[in-house]
Amino acid sequence: MRPADNAIRQNPWPDFFSTVLDGLRENGLHRELKSMDSPISTRVKIGKRTFLLFCSNDYLGLASDPRMKKVASEAVNLWGTGSAASRLISGNISLYRDLEKDISSFKHAESSLVFACGYSANVGVISSLAHKDDLILSDALNHASVVDACRLSRADVRVFPHRDLSCLQDHLAGRPARGKVLVVTDGVFSMDGDLAPLRELYGVCGEYGALLVVDDAHGTGVIGPSGGGSLDYFCMQNADVVHVGTFSKALGSLGGFVAGSKLLMDYIVNHARSLIYSTALPPSVLAANREGLRIVREDSSGRERLASLRSYLRTCLLRLGIPTPAGPAPILPLIIGSEREAGLLSQHLWKKGILVPSIRPPTVPPGKSRLRITLSALHSETDLDRLVEALEGFFRMGS
Ligand code: PMP
Repeated sequence: MRPADNAIRQNPWPDFFSTVLDGLRENGLHRELKSMDSPISTRVKIGKRTFLLFCSNDYLGLASDPRMKKVASEAVNLWGTGSAASRLISGNISLYRDLEKDISSFKHAESSLVFACGYSANVGVISSLAHKDDLILSDALNHASVVDACRLSRADVRVFPHRDLSCLQDHLAGRPARGKVLVVTDGVFSMDGDLAPLRELYGVCGEYGALLVVDDAHGTGVIGPSGGGSLDYFCMQNADVVHVGTFSKALGSLGGFVAGSKLLMDYIVNHARSLIYSTALPPSVLAANREGLRIVREDSSGRERLASLRSYLRTCLLRLGIPTPAGPAPILPLIIGSEREAGLLSQHLWKKGILVPSIRPPTVPPGKSRLRITLSALHSETDLDRLVEALEGFFRMGS
């Protein structure tokens, strides 16, 4: 049967895509994927060129560490390549039990659960903790996975200004009598490298019976005396918080996790849809995750090296008149402002063989475009000198 004439329309999709993409290009916001033609380390090949890399989250250089590769390939030989079902069906191979034991001990928690990635951990945990009649208070600079998780929960979500305790306290004081309250914050903020005031947040949450969720994707393995992350850094290892993390950054692998009480894990296994309805991680990844944790716990040299490189680079940047916050995280934001200027600086570095893509809205607020410089323990002082020299060249051209 032919559709009625008025039901025949031109296919609107190609025009729609082109209009949206043209708009992004005009505003300097268009993104595209670049293919890396070598393993990720401080040097990476793109086509025939080799770049010095200052933008990966492989803070300890574990992503291509021989120890990690060895355990991953042994796990493939022993267990195969896939897990073939979700954890609640038949994918929960015993490597999960061993890995979760390691995480619980690393995070000083009673129990823990591994997810497919950090994004999926935030989405699963936060959306199963808060529902329609609940309130979520979320820091304005929280990661997109936290933002999406809050939306998915259908709770009343209020965003408080970045690290603003007094505004948070106002929200808590005026909360409705009904429903539970969740306060969510990144431990280390991914685009700024600063830390949440966890002691104060924990104190305020305690006063109002709110549960604190800390996404410590960028703190885990890197900060704190034993690499335990931001709670370790603030000596709050035993605080009653919901601790979310990822294996994809300092731990050099893939997978997310949550650590907390046994009761909480039982609840999450029964509610987190991203855990229930997603295939379990492959054995090679679980084995690498255990090895990453082992290295972080037994060897502090990577963390010490990172701290020394960070302090060296900060001194160089301050000498150039580039404001650079102090702090323990290996993330140094170079806030430029306009999308165009940030893009120009990134292109200038590209020409010099240095890869630092510009970070633009919506990842950061409009007018706060930047270069997010990240360090690896495998960088040398000479690498940092090359970066500083290239930055100096750009700013000299502009002045
Ligand atoms: N939280 C933060 C703060 C992050 O920066 C990221 C990754 N960029 C995630 C969560 C998600 O982690 P994953 O990449 O393991 O999904």
